[in-house]
Amino acid sequence: MTKRLTLTGMIIGMILNFNVSASTQVTFSSEGEGEEREHAHTLSPEEEANYYREAYQKGNFEILNFRFQQTDWRECTDEITGNYSGYNCANRRGISVILKDFMDAYMPICVQEALDEVDGGQLDQLHIIHDGILGDRRHSPRSMHAENRAIDIDSFVVTNYAGEKKRYLYEDVKNRPFYTAFRSCWGRIVHENNGCPYYAGNPLRTGSIGWEDKNHRHHMHTSVPYCVRGKYGSYYYNR
Ligand SMILES: [Zn+2]
Repeated sequence: MTKRLTLTGMIIGMILNFNVSASTQVTFSSEGEGEEREHAHTLSPEEEANYYREAYQKGNFEILNFRFQQTDWRECTDEITGNYSGYNCANRRGISVILKDFMDAYMPICVQEALDEVDGGQLDQLHIIHDGILGDRRHSPRSMHAENRAIDIDSFVVTNYAGEKKRYLYEDVKNRPFYTAFRSCWGRIVHENNGCPYYAGNPLRTGSIGWEDKNHRHHMHTSVPYCVRGKYGSYYYNR
């Protein structure tokens, strides 16, 4: 029931997503610090199901009017598997096409760079334990989570070619070298493939928010920022 409603909500969101061209009408502002003082609340699986159910039952389709094309992450069976922390993998979880594409194409590359940093071997299978993707646009309309363009990562669980399986927990400071390498790679990827300037001139802080922010000690916010002609659009948070 829950999953069907979630899917229904996604389809409605896509059908009603006639407003895509509006995404190009963006004004620019200078990049400011401190825009992520409060992390947007990402929805738990129950909250996500309620979010779609409410929209469907109340006819509040505005909150499903994503500006960017949406798809599903099949957490149990896709090449990169995953689960919301503390829950089983979901057959389908809503995600923006661009974040899914970047995850599929580039996340293994950046996890491999991270493994190289810690002599972790060659990546065979990647699993992501996360703390959510979708945020409520009514509360945080400018967050990348409002568009399913960000994922809060708790851990990468890596199986290497030697068959060794290891969980790299983000909040464990011993894994900082691993995550420093990952974030530097991801920032470079976002810069090269999405036209985003380096945030504060720093690849490490481009497309991710981590331990430098007090709200991001327990998860790594990882996004594909909204960039127009090499600049961030002011409608959205930079990361
Ligand atoms: Zn986040």
